[in-house]
Formats: sequence, C-alpha cells, structure tokens
Amino acid sequence: MPKFIFVTGGVLSALGKGIAAASIGMLLESHGYKITLQKFDPYLNVDPGTMNPFQHGEVYVTDDGAETDLDLGHYERFTSTKTTKAHNWTAGKIYETILRKEREGQFLGKTVQVIPHVTDEIKSAFYAVSNDNDIIIIEIGGTVGDIEGLPFLEAIRQMRLALGPENTLFVHLTLVPFIKTSGELKTKPTQHSVKELRAIGIQPDIILCRTDRFLGPEIRQKISLFTNVPLEAVITAKDVDNIYEIPLIFAQQGLDKIIINRLHLPPRRRQLKKWKDMVERRRHPRDEVNIALVGKYAGLHDSYISLKQALDHAGTAHHLKVNISWVEAEDVEDQSPECLLQDADGILVPGGFGVRGIEGKIKAITYARRNQIPFFGICLGMQCATIEFARHVAGLKEANSTEFNARTPHKVFFKWRELKNVKQLGGTMRLGAYLCRLKKGSLAEKTYGRLTIWERHRHRYEFNPAFEPILSKAGLIISGKNPDHNLVEIIELPDHPWFLGCQFHPEFKSKPLQPHPLFKAFIGASYAYRCQKNKA
Ligand code: GLN
Repeated sequence: MPKFIFVTGGVLSALGKGIAAASIGMLLESHGYKITLQKFDPYLNVDPGTMNPFQHGEVYVTDDGAETDLDLGHYERFTSTKTTKAHNWTAGKIYETILRKEREGQFLGKTVQVIPHVTDEIKSAFYAVSNDNDIIIIEIGGTVGDIEGLPFLEAIRQMRLALGPENTLFVHLTLVPFIKTSGELKTKPTQHSVKELRAIGIQPDIILCRTDRFLGPEIRQKISLFTNVPLEAVITAKDVDNIYEIPLIFAQQGLDKIIINRLHLPPRRRQLKKWKDMVERRRHPRDEVNIALVGKYAGLHDSYISLKQALDHAGTAHHLKVNISWVEAEDVEDQSPECLLQDADGILVPGGFGVRGIEGKIKAITYARRNQIPFFGICLGMQCATIEFARHVAGLKEANSTEFNARTPHKVFFKWRELKNVKQLGGTMRLGAYLCRLKKGSLAEKTYGRLTIWERHRHRYEFNPAFEPILSKAGLIISGKNPDHNLVEIIELPDHPWFLGCQFHPEFKSKPLQPHPLFKAFIGASYAYRCQKNKA
C-alpha cells in the first residue's frame, strides 16, 4: 500500500504549492522511491478546460487527453510521473460522479451527504493512482479556510485516522512576510493558518515557510512553538529566481530525510548530481538569445507557463539565457514589425483562441519568413503560418480558418469532421496524444532523430486536406501527418534556416533534464541567427 503526503496551503494562494509538492516528489524520486502526484481543486468546474486562462492560468493537457490544472505540468517537469485524468480532480468532477450514481439509484435510498458520500468519493480518488507507487503526494488546491475546501480537508483527516501517522504526512505551506517598515519577519499569518487547520482536526507534520530570506533559529523556534511542529520540520521555502533550485533548498535543510523517517521508509542513497548540474548550468549561461513571443497576453504570463519552461530548458541545454519579449499581436497590426521585432533572434507564435490579434500574428510571420528569422509556430501559430503562406506565396488571397472567417472561399483550416456537430464546449477538442509520422529528410525528422512521434493536442480546427496539393505545389513542406485520421501535423518551409509549425503542443513534454527537441533546435537556430547578425 502506498504512503500519502498531503500538501495544503495557508494565508493566501499563489505561494507555489504546486512547485513545493513537485519538489518533494523530485527529492523522493532522487532516493529511488516510486512516486506520483495528484491535484485536488475545490472549485465546481468539472475541469479547467472551459475556464479563462487569464484567470486560471494555463490548461495543461495529459497524454490521455485530460484538460488539467497547470500544477500537473510542474509534476511532470520535476519528476518522471506521467499524469492522466486520474491525477486531477475538482469538486465538480467529484459531484458529477456522485450525482450520476444517485440517478442510477446506487445509494439504495440513502440520503446522499457531504460526509460520508463526498468524502468517500474523494478518498477513493486518492487511490485511483496508487498502482505500484511507494508514495502519493496529494496537493489540495485553494487555501485553508475556504468553504469549498472543507470536504477535501475532512477526507485527508480521515485518511490519517484510517492509515496512521507512519502512512500519512501533512505538509502545510504558509507565508512568513518580511515587513519593511518595521524590518521584521512576521509569524502571525502562519499561526492563524495552522490554528484553522487544527480546528478541523489536522495537525501539520511539516511547515514550509514561503519567505524572501532564510529563517533564523529564533523565528523557526517561534513557529515551532505556536504550530506544535518540531523545529527541524520548520523549513524555509525561500523565493528563488529559478524554480528548479527549490528541491535543492529543501534538500539542504534535510526535508527529504525528515519525510523518509516520518513515513518509516527504508533509507536509500540520494542521487541529485544531474539536477544540480542542470541548475548550475542555468545559473552560468555563456551568452543570451532573444525570443519574441507574438500573442495575446493581457499581462498574464501564467497562461503560457509550459511554453516559458520549454524555452528555458532549451536555453539551459545550449548554455544560453533566453530573454522572452512578449509582443502583443494587436500592436503588430498597427505598427511596423521591423520596429517591434528588431531585437528578435527568433519569433514564436504560440497557441491561442479567437480572432483578436490574428492579422498581427500573420504580419509577424511574413516578417520572419521574408527575413530568414527562425520561426516556430505552435498550434494556432502553425495555423497562422499556413494561412500566411497560402495568402502570400500560394496566391489564395482570402485564405483563413473558419474560426476567424466562416465564409471565406479559401477555408485552409476548418472544424475537424469529428467535431462538426458537437455543441458542448467542455472536453470537446482534439485532445491528448496522437501519433505523427515524419517525412524522411525533413527538418522535423532531423530534429527528432526518428520517424514517429507522439505529441499532445488541444484544438478544434484542422488543416483542410483539400488545400494540401496547392500548398505543397507552392513549396510548403508537409513533414508530419497523423496516419489514422490523415491530419496534417507539421509544416515547414524550404530555403529558410528554421521555419516550422506544429499543430500539437510540444511544450507539454519538455523537461529540464530532457529539453524538447523542437525547442532545442529552435533556440539553436535562433542563436546561430544572432551570431550571424552580430558578425554582419
Ligand atoms: N484556436 C485554434 C483551434 O481551436 C488553435 C488552438 C490552440 O492553439 N490551442 O484549432
């Protein structure tokens, strides 16, 4: 039977609970334990698929096509766990299951209640990923004290009662703010948050204190006293520039050893060398490279978290610092791309939805194509690159996607036949991993170093096969296709140093120790372009 670590958060949201949980997972994995992580979100949406990314951040897609919370991205990047539908649960998904059972009469006339029915359903979800794992790390979303979080906290309290302290561990992440005016660190928010937890029957075993400096013994002593947590288990979770340093900061304070002792796990040797080397490499880049991301941002970069990470992994692999400039696509519509993109060594158009900014993205792509600047188009970016080519090279002046103009005579992208008559919005895109066969000798094949790949999708519109002959004839290289549905997955341009668009989202599969080949190659090409530009 696996052991369970429950991670809760106090005081306020956005303290980095997901990264803390992922770091614990990474450390335990470095000892050779088999681990996985799960996220429970107390909100009522069934999944985040229909939630506004500017409010909720990125929707992370798993191989099995679940649209999940962005923390699952951290789990996959920090550890070798492969997340699935069973790794992310919301209150909405739990209630959906219960209400379906109720309608089927499975409760045999009983009154269906939060305790025990909702809590039982939550507990059975904890076991949905047990398989042969030694440890399951479960992150409870939201902040202690939220009304909607209560059934989840009650479920974890019951887990301790059922399995005992050697099989369950409560980790609580709080904030220890430094108040500038008085020059002091404050423990009161932590005291309150732990009081709140204890009122519902949960005594934390470990406190992670998010703060801007290492906490000295005095302040840790005080937190220990007020929260009833042993001194050694009051751990500093210091702000860092590089999230991949967090496991190392925890390791320095012996967090992994405390967990292993408390859970009565057999001790093993820790292997952190590769991780440490990667952090070191990232800390000392040899040079830098500027990448312009042309998209719709409204200032919130959390909706592109995997993308940012993937660029960063690729940069680290090349010993380069990647400077991202976020260029609003709408600005490119009214201003000259020469002016907005003059510093760019590479241009990337990421995924997105809706017509706003489309013409700006297309203009930026024309600029990249004509000026031989490395270009990478992802999902919507690939669609825009194809439209750009169709309009300006193949002469299909009105080329468009029906997402942006349903009446165009040149429907280069249209709704996939499988989705044509689907009215519901949630969970109805082409989602998850699909096979893609690469064309021999293409840039894609050279980059991946193989002929078949699996990549993850999240989109409704597809390359219209009716336009394949005319676009190919005009020079577009179709270098990746899904054989099962005959769908175009990758396009490239000849006579260009690096121009590639993919219908899938490669950023979901990039890891700090295994940077994604497409990102790695794009950053390499952008750096080569930079060197050549500087020489000229
Ligand atoms: N809006 C486009 C589609 O639905 C692209 C989606 C995306 O970039 N994820 O096909």
